Amino acid sequence: MNWRSHILIGAILGLAAALLLGEELFPIIIITAFSGLCALAPDLDHDSSKGRQWLDVAFVGIAFMAVYGSACGADVCVPGLGSAGSMAVTFLAMAGAYFLFFRFLKPRHRGITHTLVACFGFGVLLYLLAGSMLALAGLVGYASHLIADNELKLI
Ligand SMILES: [Zn+2]
Repeated sequence: MNWRSHILIGAILGLAAALLLGEELFPIIIITAFSGLCALAPDLDHDSSKGRQWLDVAFVGIAFMAVYGSACGADVCVPGLGSAGSMAVTFLAMAGAYFLFFRFLKPRHRGITHTLVACFGFGVLLYLLAGSMLALAGLVGYASHLIADNELKLI
């Protein structure tokens, strides 16, 4: 299944979940979009994955912004970021871990990333990083990918 189909299925299921929960319009839009994006996450184990290409660019961009913000001082360059120094370290650590993981520990395609354990771990990570609404959206998107790929194995 191609990336467009995964996004579409993830977004539709995210929309359904948001409507079932009786969310307002703005959260419905966020949940739908985020579910669609998270439906690409399991295929990050593939070099030509669209989500991987987008994440590579996003991480480099975020790392540059974080370094720029911390070097110039949060009040001047990146208003509203709070303690930009510690955020920069966090973002750079995440970017470094991301690139190291995919450079040296890249799992085989449709391996560990296409399991229910990975889906659950993804949801927990999102919950810790972004709260329950985005965790739910991410879980729905991730699970939609596994269902669409017909890969519902536990481990
Ligand atoms: Zn897949």
